[in-house]
Amino acid sequence: MAIAGQPTIEERLHSIPSAMLAAVYRGVNDVRLESVPVPAIGPGELLLKVHTCGVCGTDLKKIATGSHSAPRIFGHETSGIVAAVGAGVRNFQPGDRVVVFHHIPCRTCYYCRHKTFAQCPTYKKVGCTAGFEPSGGGFAEYVRVMDWIVDQGTVKIPDGVSFEQACFVEPVNTCLKGIEALRLEPGETVLSIGQGPIGIILSVLARRSGATVITSDLYPERLRISKSLGFERTIDASQQDAVRAVREQTEGRGADTVILAVGSNALIRPAMDAARPGGRILLFAQTQRGEVVVDPAAICVDEKALLGSYSASVDLQEESVRFVMNREMDLERLISHRFPLQEGARALELAAHPQPSSMKGVIQPGSAWA
Ligand SMILES: [Zn+2]
Ligand SMILES: [Zn+2]
Repeated sequence: MAIAGQPTIEERLHSIPSAMLAAVYRGVNDVRLESVPVPAIGPGELLLKVHTCGVCGTDLKKIATGSHSAPRIFGHETSGIVAAVGAGVRNFQPGDRVVVFHHIPCRTCYYCRHKTFAQCPTYKKVGCTAGFEPSGGGFAEYVRVMDWIVDQGTVKIPDGVSFEQACFVEPVNTCLKGIEALRLEPGETVLSIGQGPIGIILSVLARRSGATVITSDLYPERLRISKSLGFERTIDASQQDAVRAVREQTEGRGADTVILAVGSNALIRPAMDAARPGGRILLFAQTQRGEVVVDPAAICVDEKALLGSYSASVDLQEESVRFVMNREMDLERLISHRFPLQEGARALELAAHPQPSSMKGVIQPGSAWA
């Protein structure tokens, strides 16, 4: 029987230290590298030795706005090696390479029965922690994975698939969920605004659904990556009026659907203008509450539908795992910045101020492994 706080035999065998490094959020724009206790695990739980953790826009938003109490250890796109297992864990053993989701819905409450999993109270409970209020914990050397995540939200990484590729399972799931919300028909035209890592994944998934995708961004560097992935129809929004360019490419109608993967609310109106009458517009990066001006007649008279999508869907977990692990897309190439954990605070700082050439940033405690 493993008791929280006391190491199991496996733990001793793998000589898990009592303290570890972590990038600790201490308040608005204040993340510090600190030594913290390695989390203890209980029955049914795992201790994960983190190799790679993606830096997500939602982490940056929490750090920049102070929307969450401090202290916390963020990071939820986490892959690594099982370092120890609690009593009763059957499906995993020390040494397994895995990627973990940080929350999983109950599947039985009102919201789950209506398939709005991200609104489920259980889903909102974070099941991975490196200490303090559970917040993902991937920006640390070790993460405690709680029992319901071990049961339903921990996935083995096949041989030949890197930790870097695997850490995209959660972001791919969120993108897949957004694409599902659009109910794309083969042959439809999609305008994908914003070709950062998430925008590019959304573009690839839209194309996979049979749509013709036009990509747009302000930065030529990003359009170059988009082109290298086979997106021939690109709009350089720093040079061209994207709305006019899309209409020209669609017999004057506008795109059937528009995906907005840029946080700026100023782009909501042009995104709606770029959609054809009866078209759909997906807001994928509007995570801050606020107010915007919309043309109500665009929704009523022109019958344009504004949609939103946030977070992952447990129903799409298998598909997102297949997409990532079968390497349907080379996701590693979206990583532009790799930082050891020692530089975790700087990594978050840089990611909050992206350059045109910045794509995905990852923090890699595993870069220090022998
Ligand atoms: Zn994320
Ligand atoms: Zn539920």
